[in-house]
Amino acid sequence: MAKVTLPDGSILETADGTAAKQLAEQIGQGLTKAAIAARVNGQLVDLSTPVNGDVAVQIITLKDNQGLEIMRHSCAHIMAEAICSIWPDAKLVYGPIVEDGFYYDIDLDESIRPADFERIEKKMREIIKADKPFIRKEMSRDEALTKLASDKYKTDNIKHADSDVISFYSHGDDFEDLCRGPHLPSTGRVGSFKIMSVAGAYWHGDPTQKMLQRVYGTAWPTQKELDEYLRRLEEAKKRDHRVLGKQLDLFSFNKAGPGFAFIHAKGMIIWNAIVDFWRSVHDKYGYQQIQTPIILNEELWHRSGHWDNYKENMYFTDIDGTGYAIKPMNCPGLCLVYKTRQHSYREFPMRVAELGLVHRHEASGVMHGLFRVRQFTQDDAHIFCTPEQIEAEIIGVIELTFEIYRAFGFEDFRIELSTKPQKHIGSDEIWDTATNALKDALAHKTIEYKINEGDGAFYGPKIDFHIRDCLKRSWQLGTIQLDFSMPQRFGLVYTDKDNTEKTPVMIHRAVLGSFERFIGILIEHYGGNLPLWLTPEQVRVLAISEKSNDYAQIVLHKLKDAQLRCSMDLSNEKIGAKIAKAHSKKLSYMLVIGPKEAQSNTVNVRIRGDKETKTVQIDEFITIAKRKIVDKNIDLTF
Ligand SMILES: [Zn+2]
Ligand SMILES: [Zn+2]
Repeated sequence: MAKVTLPDGSILETADGTAAKQLAEQIGQGLTKAAIAARVNGQLVDLSTPVNGDVAVQIITLKDNQGLEIMRHSCAHIMAEAICSIWPDAKLVYGPIVEDGFYYDIDLDESIRPADFERIEKKMREIIKADKPFIRKEMSRDEALTKLASDKYKTDNIKHADSDVISFYSHGDDFEDLCRGPHLPSTGRVGSFKIMSVAGAYWHGDPTQKMLQRVYGTAWPTQKELDEYLRRLEEAKKRDHRVLGKQLDLFSFNKAGPGFAFIHAKGMIIWNAIVDFWRSVHDKYGYQQIQTPIILNEELWHRSGHWDNYKENMYFTDIDGTGYAIKPMNCPGLCLVYKTRQHSYREFPMRVAELGLVHRHEASGVMHGLFRVRQFTQDDAHIFCTPEQIEAEIIGVIELTFEIYRAFGFEDFRIELSTKPQKHIGSDEIWDTATNALKDALAHKTIEYKINEGDGAFYGPKIDFHIRDCLKRSWQLGTIQLDFSMPQRFGLVYTDKDNTEKTPVMIHRAVLGSFERFIGILIEHYGGNLPLWLTPEQVRVLAISEKSNDYAQIVLHKLKDAQLRCSMDLSNEKIGAKIAKAHSKKLSYMLVIGPKEAQSNTVNVRIRGDKETKTVQIDEFITIAKRKIVDKNIDLTF
């Protein structure tokens, strides 16, 4: 007899060997129709999998994220079958999911071109229409190796498999592929899909290997969701921060320094507004700020462990015959500051922030505007505390993080907790204390989170913060990491209550991650229409004709006195042209003035994105604008 515990805690008794699919049938008709896979004791499996004994079972549908992922991955197999039917010489390498879709790496001498996509899609539609079942077949590793002896790619995949039972899946009896699964019950369960692009990719990312063709696709439960996704992609193109950065004169890149951003004057206004705000919040939360050197000698990086674990991502230089490295992280420098004097438990928790300029090597192929750069400023901080203080400190960091995200208009957050990996340092007790402190802090704030078992750093568990932008794209920004390694490596100590020397707990944390990347995210989230407090040019005065130039000067002075970032346009152009020009710069407010406004001490306010104009007293306008800046109000209307 199988005793099945369902997600709501209810128990279903059924014969051993009952397939998950039949369980869905016992639960209800709606679920039977929607079911595509199951989670049995935490593991995702095909719907045809039998259950035995005491088990926890969850039926997976396309409403679940994993359900969507299983459909996308199944779609990769269908695409592979379609490609193999068109090009029988094609060798399949590897077909995983990616965000919003999937790809399959194909070894084929003939190039697959975008013009071929329609042909592949047509074939895929036929396979889906035939509604062929995905059938799983298992064999031992040795059998599988013999079966695929002539296929170097699949042989390699078997060697990388973590199970001794190797599984194959076929669609009906036509097409078979090595895969650990799970998949949809049948090909007909794929919703709406589209092949998106094809790009070159080396096998294992190794440039000495043959260049493969990576074909990307996307799949969604319905055509409506696919259309919505394609619309978001179009919208994202329009919001591309690299295009807007140029149009708004915010930053640039130059071949003189690939991956090193040049931040222009207007970009620096955004930057400094973020820094001012960041600093004020950190003051409020009791942080001190320091600054450590960018270049430090090799010996330090040996001691910190970066030499052994991070060398490939670092840059090196030589000063007076001695080897130096350019810092990829700020913590070792901070440890040296810590060691300049003695510390007592009375100083703890000690919160030290640094806007640290770090360099990390990225392959030239992955650099992408401000999103992926080789040099960036990290909004870094470290907290030294006692084990008992961990939970309260984590709560403090969570509060500070949310306060900062909200100020930028991000309300949709997601949190992930990563726990002890196989390879780790530190005792089980300290891992338990630290992991429980993280869990308790999240529980205290009644925050829902996802656990990534075994995904922590080797030196401690961590929490990651993700935000969702207006195009529903997810960005990992902040992180809180506990570290049991570095304080020991650097021999950091404090004197405890009982007068003995102890090693402090070290917490690494960042809220925005990289300033450069965060500014890129802001630009795309707002499509360049930044909130007033961040807009480089907040107000522009536009005179209808030169008769009003004197009054324009008076208005401009008043704006400047009120410390608003402003300019005026006294050119001979027609007012329509002046408005169009100001509009293209995405500034917040245009104040149009003519003789009527001069006489009544008013301004005609044109709000960005608003068709209506409004005439108000100049002092009233200033009061309103100032208030919106202080409140970090995203809405410009009044
Ligand atoms: Zn598969
Ligand atoms: Zn650190």
